[in-house]
Amino acid sequence: MATLQEVLQETVREGELYEKMERGFVRCYACGHCCRIPDGQLGVCKVRYNEGGKLLVPWGYVASAQCDPIEKKPFFHAYPGALAYSFGMMGCDLHCAYCQNWVTSQALRDPNAVSPPLRATPEGLVREALEHGARVVVSTYNEPLITSEWAVAVFKEARAAGLATGFVSNGNGTPQVLEYLRPWVDLYKVDLKSFEDRQYRQLGGRMQPILETIGRLHEMGFWVEIVTLIVPGFNDSDDELKRLAEFLAGVSPDIPWHVTAFHKDYKMTEPENTSARTLLRAAEIGKAAGLRFVYAGNLPGRTEGLENTYCPNCHQLLIERVGFHVLAYRLTAEGSCPDCGAAIPGRWGAGFQGQIAAFPFLPRFQRFDRIRTGRR
Ligand code: SF4
Repeated sequence: MATLQEVLQETVREGELYEKMERGFVRCYACGHCCRIPDGQLGVCKVRYNEGGKLLVPWGYVASAQCDPIEKKPFFHAYPGALAYSFGMMGCDLHCAYCQNWVTSQALRDPNAVSPPLRATPEGLVREALEHGARVVVSTYNEPLITSEWAVAVFKEARAAGLATGFVSNGNGTPQVLEYLRPWVDLYKVDLKSFEDRQYRQLGGRMQPILETIGRLHEMGFWVEIVTLIVPGFNDSDDELKRLAEFLAGVSPDIPWHVTAFHKDYKMTEPENTSARTLLRAAEIGKAAGLRFVYAGNLPGRTEGLENTYCPNCHQLLIERVGFHVLAYRLTAEGSCPDCGAAIPGRWGAGFQGQIAAFPFLPRFQRFDRIRTGRR
């Protein structure tokens, strides 16, 4: 029986984010690695490869699809309460030891990461999103940059159906991929994992392309939210958090920053789980750096109101949350504070439309066929 890699190589098409080079090489621009790939070889992500001087890229399948509250992504300033129909393919350009989506992201590097692919079409995915009442379609679970062509195909269908679109990404982008995505992606979450280049190198990347991507995303008008998973002993020093938060505030004090609690996962089982006290400390550092919207995640009800949105001008409570659950929503239809009229940055749509689910669930009518593989 075919390996997972062999099966996935039957569900590909020619990519759009690359250039042909001398002697059959290609240069891929889908992520910050910008791999120069000889004929017959894979890129670092192991899902894009050169065959006969053409770059072939993943197409026509999903590794998983799920209905998530948008608060889980997390987006707190985009359509609160909306259902985000979420899909992902396989593979990643980084290899974080604490990855919480390792079953799909590391499927091609780790023999324990078994997640059989399902055949899918953009039309089928969007039909399923609409049937569940989703307002947003999100590419997530693996690194969406490395499967950008497929995401754009799905998002074109989603836009035609009146849905918003989003990426949940490590932010290791390039100017070329951001130009390619800009017409089709509304919301962009970046996981800013550290503010030390040496830590990023441990995870298989570099920090500079990620910082540049955050700046470009903001300049280009994507709605950007940033998450930092606070891992004790890895990225939780006052100094590192201060530099990170000051960088974000320098891009824009209106960018929401989510500091979230680590729990032992995948290969990182040594550090202790993050305490509420550590999240509160990180949030204080973020506010002192000038960020106007700082949130604490993964410890519902334990972080002293840091799951809520407050007006930065008059400090009134605007959106009350516990975990992914929206308990109260007070913004005006224009996205302003009802008490002082201050405009609150975000994508608010025509206002709050209730919440279909405060917990993730699997789509009820999954009609996608499994692609059979034999792992070797
Ligand atoms: S997506 Fe990134 S890692 Fe994959 S081939 Fe392209 S540049 Fe290389």
